[in-house]
Parts: sequence; structure tokens; C-alpha cells
Amino acid sequence: MDLFEYQARDLFAKHDVPVLSGEVIDTPEAAREVAERLGGRVVVKAQVKTGGRGKAGGVKLADGPDDAVEKAGAILGMDIKGHTVHKVMLAQTADIVDEYYVSFLLDRANRTFLAMASVEGGMEIEEVAATKPEALAKVPVDAKEGVTDAKAREIVEAAKFPAEVADQVAEVLKKLWTVFIKEDALLVEVNPLAKTGDGTVLAIDGKVSLDANAAFRQPDHAELEDKASANPLEAAAKAKGLNYVKLDGEVGIIGNGAGLVMSTLDVVAYAGEKHGNVKPANFLDIGGGASAEVMANGLEIILGDPAVKSVFVNVFGGITACDAVANGIVQALELLKSKGEDVNKPLVVRLDGNNAELGRKILTDANHPLVQQVDTMDDAADRAAELAAK
Ligand code: GDP
Ligand code: MN
Repeated sequence: MDLFEYQARDLFAKHDVPVLSGEVIDTPEAAREVAERLGGRVVVKAQVKTGGRGKAGGVKLADGPDDAVEKAGAILGMDIKGHTVHKVMLAQTADIVDEYYVSFLLDRANRTFLAMASVEGGMEIEEVAATKPEALAKVPVDAKEGVTDAKAREIVEAAKFPAEVADQVAEVLKKLWTVFIKEDALLVEVNPLAKTGDGTVLAIDGKVSLDANAAFRQPDHAELEDKASANPLEAAAKAKGLNYVKLDGEVGIIGNGAGLVMSTLDVVAYAGEKHGNVKPANFLDIGGGASAEVMANGLEIILGDPAVKSVFVNVFGGITACDAVANGIVQALELLKSKGEDVNKPLVVRLDGNNAELGRKILTDANHPLVQQVDTMDDAADRAAELAAK
């Protein structure tokens, strides 16, 4: 889960990373009082989950409360790379004389954590990384040892931080590592980490991505979720405990097991090329124990997606045998009907594995007008794509 800058700033402050005071508002008028409280001169910053806000005009200095109202008015509602600005942060301004870059991230390829640092931070960091890779130091961080004094020093030296800020940067690195570990982050990035006129080092802009898999031990993180911009179908699925991801296509997908569902997406996308380029409308893994209720919940979400034109139920019976799944489908359709849901999209069902024959017989006997059975995954994908293209 990516955080907004102001949320990253709050986490930094919680773990003593040096930041400036800031407050979030969502109307231009609110800027006056906040700017007064912050001392008059403020920087007004678009809160959107994308980089390059500065270049897009989403970061502006205001020389007083009136100007802050004007700048907030200019930034609120702005579109930055497809993200509408609904909130701005007002922060105290820094007298920046140098801009550095530091980050910690999970380096999956090397199965370790990685520190990255550069004395050439700021808005051109992507350019620096692409054209001058030697200017971006990369130092592996051992998961068990973490960022010790020696490791912080190693990063500072690898990136050639000037002597006058070395101690401060090392201190910031240790605190950012604390954020990374204590908050179960996958990414903690500061750009710029600024040297100010009086020689102080401050985190001016932060980016944090939290590991959703650690949500069970991070109860405070739930409220960081941006519910307003969550996809309504994904939110509804989440509330029902379903593993659902909304995609762009027209063929609704239900399967049991993440691997099977992933390959189903591929097969449907491939089959769709022959049928007007229809694509999968979602990922939905109903897992091993596909009870009628889970199947009904899954079907309800998928049938509630106006983009869906057909549904492909792809099940490989294992611990939960195909007859149970077939009964689940039949009961789910009855359940939805009894709830007054308008079930009118064709369902292509492929059952294989444990008790497949019995499962197929149950569906055949039920003879539901919307359900068609196809024996193989490829043929079923083709049929579902064809129906979606109609
Ligand atoms: P980004 O473009 O989305 O990364 O947004 P940042 O928060 O990093 O801001 C972009 C740039 O605005 C920074 O690199 C700074 O040069 C500048 N900036 C941000 N805050 C301040 C500030 O308080 N004072 C000054 N002088 N510049 C700032
Ligand atoms: Mn930045």
C-alpha cells in the first residue's frame, strides 16, 4: 500500500526522522489559517500517489496566508499523471542549498534489502540513475543486522556525502531504517533529503510503501488506506474477504488457487485476441474451500461489474471436490436470485480434478439456462471470450 506524502511525513515524525511541520487541507480557504499557524511562508504540495509533482506544477511556494489560499486553489483539482488532486499539504518552507536522495527497499531479485543514496538528489534523480549510475550508490542491507552505525557509515561513504553532513545523514539513515522495519515497509524513500542554509539535514519529501501482508500486526495501518479512491468493487470484495483485483476487460474470472487463476487470465487474454480483443475483467481466487456462500459472494461481485459480459468459472477440484463446487454454483445462482439480483450473464464452467464427473453431472442435471460446461481450460476460455464479444 503506497502512502500519501503527508502520511509518510507523519511516520517519519513518529520515528524521529527530521521533518518540517505540515498539515493537510482539502479546500483553498482552509489554507489561510494553516499558513498562519505554520508561520506565514509555506510550501503548498499536491497530495497524489505519483512522483514528479514538482515538475507538474503541484509544488508551489507561498509567501503568506493569502498567497497560500491562491496556490492551494491552483493545485486542488489539478490532474497530475491521471491523479486528481483532492488534498494539499501545507508545510513549513526550508531554505534548501543541496538536495540528496536516500532510500531503503526490498530487493527481491537479490533476496535482500537495499540502501540507495546519492548526493545528486532532487527532481532529476531518475535522469541521474539512468545516465550516471555511478552517482547512485547501492549498498545491500542484511535483514538480521540491519542498519548499524557501521552500515550507515558505509552508505554515506559509498554515496560520497560531504563531511559536514555525514553524521547527520548517517543518523537519518538509521532512523529511516527504523521506519522501514517498525512499520513493515517495502519502500522508504526521501527525495530530496535537503541540506538547509544553516547546515541542518531535513527530509523534505517522503515516499513510503507498506507491506499489506503485515497488516495483521500493524493495526494502525488500516486507517492509512485511501478509501475514497478505492475501486468500489475491490472494496466490496475486500469486505467479503475475497482475493479480488479489478482489471480492464470483459470476461469475469473465478478460479480456485492463485496459480490457476493467473494462468486463466493468460489463457483468456490469449483466446480474446480472436474475439475482438476481449480481456479478463478481474482476478478472483476463491481458494480451496469454495463453499456455496463463497461462490455466491464471488459471483455477486463479478456480476455486479457492469464491464463483465461473460463469466468463466475455472475449477480444479482438490481438497474441495468438484461436486461440492458444482453444488456451490447451483446454490449460488439460487441465492442470488432469491436476493433479487439480476443474473443475466452467461457462465462458462470448466470442472476438472477430484470428482469432476460427478460435478459435471450436477450442473447438467440442474440445467440452468445461463450455465454452459466446457471440458478443457482452453476451450472454455475461448467460449467465454466468444460470449463476451457478442
Ligand atoms: P516531487 O516533485 O513530487 O518529488 O515533490 P517534492 O516534494 O520533492 O518537491 C519538488 C521540489 O520542490 C523539491 O525537489 C525542492 O526543490 C522543491 N521544494 C519542496 N519543498 C521546498 C521548500 O520547502 N523549500 C524550497 N526552497 N524548495 C522546496
Ligand atoms: Mn520528491
